Amino acid sequence: MKSIRENCGVFALYSTEPAAHEIYQGIDFLQHRGQEYCGIATYDGRIHQVTHHGKVLNSFTDRDLRNLPGQWGIGHVSLRERQPVKWQSLMGDIAVAFSGNLLNAEALMQEMMAQGRAFWRGYNIELISMLILQERDPVAGLTALAGKVRGAYSLVALNQEGVYVARDVYGFRPLILGRGPGKFAVSSESRALQNLELEPVRDVKPGEIVLLDRRGFTTLKQLESPRRAHCAFEWAYTASIDSVIDGLPVLAARNHLGACLAQRDAREGGPAADLVAAVPMSGIGHALGYHAHSGLVYQEVFLYNRYADRSYTQATQVAREQMAKRKLSVLHHAVRDKSIVLCDDSIVRGTQILNKVRDLKAAGARAVHVRVACPPLMYPCDFGISTRTYEELMARRYCFQGDITNMTQLRDLEAWVAARIGADSVRYNSLEAFVEALGLPREHLCLKCWDGRRPWPVSAAGAF
Ligand code: SF4
Repeated sequence: MKSIRENCGVFALYSTEPAAHEIYQGIDFLQHRGQEYCGIATYDGRIHQVTHHGKVLNSFTDRDLRNLPGQWGIGHVSLRERQPVKWQSLMGDIAVAFSGNLLNAEALMQEMMAQGRAFWRGYNIELISMLILQERDPVAGLTALAGKVRGAYSLVALNQEGVYVARDVYGFRPLILGRGPGKFAVSSESRALQNLELEPVRDVKPGEIVLLDRRGFTTLKQLESPRRAHCAFEWAYTASIDSVIDGLPVLAARNHLGACLAQRDAREGGPAADLVAAVPMSGIGHALGYHAHSGLVYQEVFLYNRYADRSYTQATQVAREQMAKRKLSVLHHAVRDKSIVLCDDSIVRGTQILNKVRDLKAAGARAVHVRVACPPLMYPCDFGISTRTYEELMARRYCFQGDITNMTQLRDLEAWVAARIGADSVRYNSLEAFVEALGLPREHLCLKCWDGRRPWPVSAAGAF
């Protein structure tokens, strides 16, 4: 079976008017969540579907949108696979799309294959669809799905009734409801709602199953949620800065994380710098928070190429490096002879930050002090963000055994990273500072990137 790790976004609309054009805009506003594939399915007595390899604006045509009639539908953007997927079943026609990743997909598929089921490509979406469709109706199917899978999913399913919406019982991936005159919508991020002049109403609760139809939002079932485990990386990096996720604005979260780095520098007699700058785009909120707390001048030092993709979503290291180079160019006049505090959201492999420090120094920067909003990344994500492995994680290469558990270890790691990337100093937020800056209860967050813990108890067999 393929080892798929999705990074993606979903959008759905139920409207009194043809829906395709707004769904098209909705998934475009979620493009940062996945740039490889996009797709829309609508319903007007039967399901119509168009998917593409490529970005939304580059691949959908007027003709595509004309071929998507109907007043309700779902859309998807993805890094790794085409969705929505359309099925004919005893339940009737249905199209399904989801954001997330399942951990026990392999075991479930083996179990189902032993019962005579067949899979086409072994993608998570096939398994999810089959688990839903083997029940008598969508609610029973979504309930069965929650009971069987371990992992993250924010899901939309389209049929003759409207759009079914479900979030896994931990609420890993975001999902928010919105409305406007004659319209009801759901989106992976609130920015798609706001930019379509829809009012964000509330987050879908972990374990909640909702139907969007002409009556609005109806909670059809609330499954038991053992605890929340919202992905903390959403606020630090993944989500767009204009979104609000589970009640916490991404901008405020990044400002707080940047302020926290400034506080640490103030406590520890940090660098006498001339300016604070960001690695665009996801470092900007952190740098502004650093600036607001420290009073240090905020200055852009990189010009962002809006036509380049997020480099981590490229499939190979060579492609990632080429894309990172295309993405940012140095504003030479702003950096010459300057001592710079450079804020970034996280260090994954270390390649990009090494290149940025090198570029700034080549342009004449006197010193570059790197400040990182996230604590050192020690574990790969199991729940649908990027394709990191242990071997790729820079901090894991340093502490190949054990985690960072105190400030002495953190300082040792920082000195090691600074030497490798050519920075004059490196500081990360500690995990404690990171959680405090987000301001959400620790037990409501997934922090597995940093502490290695999945949110459920380890079974006797050690599974999952
Ligand atoms: S492992 Fe990391 S990226 Fe994945 S859901 Fe948890 S916090 Fe988010």
